[in-house]
Formats: sequence, structure tokens, C-alpha cells
Amino acid sequence: MAKPEGPTIGVKLFVDKEKKKVLFAESDKEFVDVLFSFLTMPLGTIVRLLDKQSQMGCLDQLYKSVEDLNLEYFQTSACKAMLLKPLNAASGHCRRLKINVDGSVPRVVYVCKDTSCSALSDNAFSSFPGTVCKCGKVMESIGQCPKYDGDTETAAAAACSEDGVFVKGCLKFIVTHDLQVAPATTSLMMSLFEKFGVLDPAVLEQQVLQFSSEKITCLLKRLLTSKQPLTDHYFEAPVPQDDASLEALVQNLHPKQESEDQEMPGNLKIRVLQTKDDSALLYAEVGVDFVDSLFSLLSIPLGSAIKLYGQCSAKGCLGNVYRSIDGSVQEFVREECQSLLLDPKLPPFFGCCASKILQVDELAPRELTIKACFVCFKSLGFSGCSLCHGYYNSNYVFVKCGNMVKSIKLCEANPKQKGGCEKGEVYVSRKANFLVTDDLRVLPLSLASTVKIVSDSKIQTSNLVVKEITLTKSKVMELQRAVLLLSRNILSSVLLHPKKNKKLHHYHRMY
Ligand SMILES: [Zn+2]
Ligand SMILES: [Zn+2]
Ligand SMILES: [Zn+2]
Repeated sequence: MAKPEGPTIGVKLFVDKEKKKVLFAESDKEFVDVLFSFLTMPLGTIVRLLDKQSQMGCLDQLYKSVEDLNLEYFQTSACKAMLLKPLNAASGHCRRLKINVDGSVPRVVYVCKDTSCSALSDNAFSSFPGTVCKCGKVMESIGQCPKYDGDTETAAAAACSEDGVFVKGCLKFIVTHDLQVAPATTSLMMSLFEKFGVLDPAVLEQQVLQFSSEKITCLLKRLLTSKQPLTDHYFEAPVPQDDASLEALVQNLHPKQESEDQEMPGNLKIRVLQTKDDSALLYAEVGVDFVDSLFSLLSIPLGSAIKLYGQCSAKGCLGNVYRSIDGSVQEFVREECQSLLLDPKLPPFFGCCASKILQVDELAPRELTIKACFVCFKSLGFSGCSLCHGYYNSNYVFVKCGNMVKSIKLCEANPKQKGGCEKGEVYVSRKANFLVTDDLRVLPLSLASTVKIVSDSKIQTSNLVVKEITLTKSKVMELQRAVLLLSRNILSSVLLHPKKNKKLHHYHRMY
């Protein structure tokens, strides 16, 4: 096979071949930086990188629902793009990684190309295709921004080159079999030998693995699905099938922080079609706010989900990476980066129902300084500067645009907003109603799909009943947590007497 192109990161594994186990790894800061960068990634980015096989609860299903939903069901076409290709608020950091698996560094700039646009003085631009200008026209690509504004880190990083992206100094790190990260010390190594019963370290084989971009993506999947990702990666164990069990739900569903049971703003009322005996829930008939509280989870950074729920998938061990940052490895994480990893922010305008519940803050809109007037920029893009400031053309004639303003500040426009009537918070169109199946398929509400679900369920209609449920904030949090942990029966687990399920479950386990 041909050698993989692109950079690789070497990691030394300490392998017990007899027990078929990787005990721990020794790495440089480059590898640790990559592990940490996973925390800054939006959940939707991870689903996309893993080709909708992330096995994070039912996020893969949710992502598919967004893909399948027609553009007319979103506020703007930009809304769909924001959910399918969410931005990473720490992308300025991530693009300095030795390997950045999220290649979608978003520097294409979109503007309304109408040079006599009625909203010309707004100096608006967008980072998303499909954003609507105040004049009503759809913004178009003007090309890649040559320099990423707001990336204040680059200069500081150059000044102290032995620092990594998130990690400082140039020491070696130990990454344990379950992904705890700590500075490499003799005492830690000895305690790991003791833990694994290694009497003679000579029996351990030391293997250096080269991680390419592709291998890092494979490792990310292991981190989400295995408690011993290094062992499974090294011995190429088959990735387990999705089997998120009810047990995970019963033990962990209720959020750590019991928030006061307040009603959601906007009064989240839904109607569910369920059996009279509470044994099954077929689907829920819901409005925009409910759908938005689900879809917007895709834009939430992994670190934020772990912060609130302690974990981000039922299996996996990324929670250990997270906890290392304010634990074993804290003093070697650059101070200004700790909150970036432990409490990641959302990019501008990504704030939404889910982020408010999860208390994820949003960055202020970006500004972009252009050394040209807006008209030159609109017609010639980033190369418009030369005309604006004047140059000699091929006939030795000095040409220059007549506009006095030679430098402008562009302001980022809200890609969710259309025509200024909506506040531009929700992703999904207010004009539609939706149905959500128990496994979290989201469809436009139509008689055809409801009839199909009822007939597929093989439940007699006389056993079915429609109930109206008003969701409180803590119920929505429970639902969001279930979305991250369960791959099936999400609505029924949360909405149909979860306590009763718990008893049943224990009853079954005793026999
Ligand atoms: Zn316009
Ligand atoms: Zn930083
Ligand atoms: Zn000009």
C-alpha cells in the first residue's frame, strides 16, 4: 500500500502482547493537542467526519433528518448549512494543529453582490452560503478571506514556539489506556506498572504508531465507542455495533444539576400518540421550538455536552480527556486555552434553544476590515483593492475608483434572519409542524407519514390515545441527554414514566 500523504504524528505504545492490551502511550504535545481539539468540535462535525456512524446516541439519525428535510422547512437555506456544517469557534486554534481532521476551515466570505443594494451602508457579510441580505437577495461567495480575522493567537504562538496549540512546554505526556492525559513522570509510570501487574517492564513491547489524518479520524470513533480505545485501535478490534443499552439511560438520564422545574419560554407543548397502557410511544406532533431544541444540539461543542452531562456518549471515554484538563494535566494547558476546552463557546449566531439550556455562550459577530470601498469589493472581491486605490493598466493609464472611502469594516450578518421580521434565533421555519418518531426521525407533519407509522407499529388503533404534554426545562434537558446517550426509544424513555421503566428493568435483571 502507498504511504499515506500528509503529516503524521508518532505515538509510542506500551503493549502487553500476551494480554493483548495497550497499557499506555507516550506522546509529544502534538498528539495531546489533537485529543484536546476534539472537545472544541461541534457534535454535528463529529457526525459528519464519521460519516453518520458516530454512535453518539441518536445524533446520526438527527443529522440524517436535517439532510432529508427540504430547504423550505428552514428559516433560510443558511440554517440548514449551519446544522450540517457547523463552525468551530476555536477554528483559529485548530488550524494550527499538526493534523486538523476538521478540514472545513471556513474562510469563504459571502456578500450581496448588488452594487446598488438598498442595504449597502450595512456593510454586511456572512460566513454561510444562503444568507439573505436585508434587500432580499441571497448573498454570494466573494472568495476566500486571505487572513482569518480574529485570530489573535498566531503572533503570540510564534513568540513562544515550544508551546503547542493548547499545551505548553515541550515535555512528554502519558496517555492511559482509557485516555487520561498526564505529564510523563517516573512515578506515574511505576504506578501504571503496578496497576497492570507488570513485574518486569522488559515484557512490554514498545511500538511507535504513526497517526495520519485518516487514522486520527478512526481513533476519534474509538474514543466515542470504547473504554480502551488504544488497545482496540492497535489490535484492530471490530468497532462494536450500536447497542446503547437502556441501562445507561436508567442510571444516567437525570442531569447532575437538578435545575428548578420551570416551564420553557415559549411554552413547549407537544402532542404524543401513545398506547393507553404507556407501553409504547409512536410519535410526537411538535412545533418549531421542539425541533429546534433537538437540531441545534448538532452545533453544540463536544466539551459543552460533557461539561453539563459528564459524558457525551454511552460508551466512549472522551470524558476522561475532558477531566484531565482541569486535573492531572492542568498546569501544562495554556491558561488562556482552558476555558476554550472546558467551556467552549459557539461561533456568532449559533446560539439557540439547546445552547441556552446547556448555557453555552456565543461569540460576538466577526468584523472584517477590507482595504477597498464596498462597491469595489462587491465586484472584484479581495483583489478589488488595487482598483480602489488606483493602478496603471496595460495602456499606462492610471485607473482608480471614484469612491472616497478606501477602507471599510464589514459586519457579520445573522444567517438565520430573513427580512428582519424574525429575531433570527431558530433554525426551523415557523410555518411548519413536524412529527418526531420515538427513534428521533424528524419529518414534516403529514397524514401519509402518520398513517404509515401507525400501520407499521401493528398496534390496534383502539389501544392508542393522543396526550398533550407540556415540557418543563428539566424535561427538555432529560431529552437532550437521552439524545446523546440512547440510539432508540428516546421519547418513550423520557416521556412515559421513566421510573416505572426502571423498576421493570431491575426486575428483569434479577432473573
Ligand atoms: Zn443586498
Ligand atoms: Zn489559546
Ligand atoms: Zn473603490
